[in-house]
Amino acid sequence: MKHEKTDQAGNYYDLAVIGGGPAGTFAAALAVKAGLSTVIMEKKAYPRSKICGGFISARSISLLPVDLNLISIPSEAIYQVSVLKGRQPRTYNSKTRLGLVVERTALDHLMAGYARAKGAVLLEEQSLEAISWIKNKTGENYTYILETGSPIRNKLTARYVIAADGALGNTARLAGLRNNKKDPRGWGLSKVIKARSKVAETGAAKFYPLPFLGGMGWSLSGPDWTNQGVGGFCSKSRLQKAYQSIFNGYPDPAGLLSWPLPFLGPLKKAASNNLLLIGDAAGLVDPFSGEGLYNSFKSAILAVRSITEAGKENKPAGELYNELFKINFRRNFAASLSGAILLHARAVLSPSSLPPLIASLMENRLWFNRDIDYL
Ligand SMILES: Cc1cc2nc3c(=O)[nH]c(=O)nc-3n(C[C@H](O)[C@H](O)[C@H](O)COP(=O)(O)OP(=O)(O)OC[C@H]3O[C@@H](n4cnc5c(N)ncnc54)[C@H](O)[C@@H]3O)c2cc1C
Repeated sequence: MKHEKTDQAGNYYDLAVIGGGPAGTFAAALAVKAGLSTVIMEKKAYPRSKICGGFISARSISLLPVDLNLISIPSEAIYQVSVLKGRQPRTYNSKTRLGLVVERTALDHLMAGYARAKGAVLLEEQSLEAISWIKNKTGENYTYILETGSPIRNKLTARYVIAADGALGNTARLAGLRNNKKDPRGWGLSKVIKARSKVAETGAAKFYPLPFLGGMGWSLSGPDWTNQGVGGFCSKSRLQKAYQSIFNGYPDPAGLLSWPLPFLGPLKKAASNNLLLIGDAAGLVDPFSGEGLYNSFKSAILAVRSITEAGKENKPAGELYNELFKINFRRNFAASLSGAILLHARAVLSPSSLPPLIASLMENRLWFNRDIDYL
């Protein structure tokens, strides 16, 4: 994508978003709509890949603007969920679309282009390396000074910062919201095979429960690719073995890539003054399914809402965001975790009950993931 590589537009913005993944680009598009001058600083150049299953659930899609036009990128609509345990499939057919299988590279590229078309300045190959802040005269608000390093050095200032730099991002640590200890987290491993799987059925998502690893495997096919992977709360080597035992038709683990899954609970505090963490950077992956896009989008909505509401009263946006974060994610997490344990137990005791429950999760109809009225 050809974008500004330097900050030629002038270097003060209302909002700087660190990280141009789905959480960051969505937040940027919302912020522009709310009237904030917005810059996105992304360390890579688009199109860039992200390790992911590429499934956008119906509940995630419901949060996105219609004019994003998701189906302009190659996708497969999902109407069926199959759970395979002991090689015997249990299937649930839905009348409504449960989600879309897409390639993450294409999704992220689409979303970055969307934010830019709406008016956000998109700076590629700018990796945040240092952040400092100064208080204004009343001591209530801060101005953030953001510095990027290799490959492109830049310095800009912003009144608000949204950190959306993912599970391995450093903004939370630079801002003192996460310590240097290793966070407890799981792993996801995935491989994209550039051909449709021979066993793929149109519109079907296949899942392979791994209850003793606290996770599951998946096979998700798009028009001309298949994404196969496993995720769970255990070591990468155990997950590699699980991958090989599930996909024994594809025993070659070459190209099997791993990435952390922060699904063991939202951070205790997700904001300080006017710096707010969203998406994986705030630890918001669902503990059962490993789905992260839904909470990425939801946290983006809450963060931008906090900024606009707090801005009216000249108060720090972080206070309101921490409150909304507690209600929507931290309190909900206990319920989501109990739900995850219950679903893993069902995978052992009653696997046939799982497909409709997974479908309900995709549509946000389960008791433990129902939304609080946050908008
Ligand atoms: C194997 C696997 C499979 C998954 N499958 C699914 C799935 O099918 N469906 C689903 O909903 N979720 C899935 N997830 C979770 C999902 O991928 C994440 O929740 C989602 O990507 C989070 O989006 P994000 O924008 O918060 O972070 P990311 O997508 O990680 O984006 C962060 C961005 O920040 C940039 N960045 C990092 N550091 C800096 C820096 N210092 N300066 C500037 N930019 C920086 C990165 O380059 C990146 O572009 C899966 C995860 C894994 C690991």
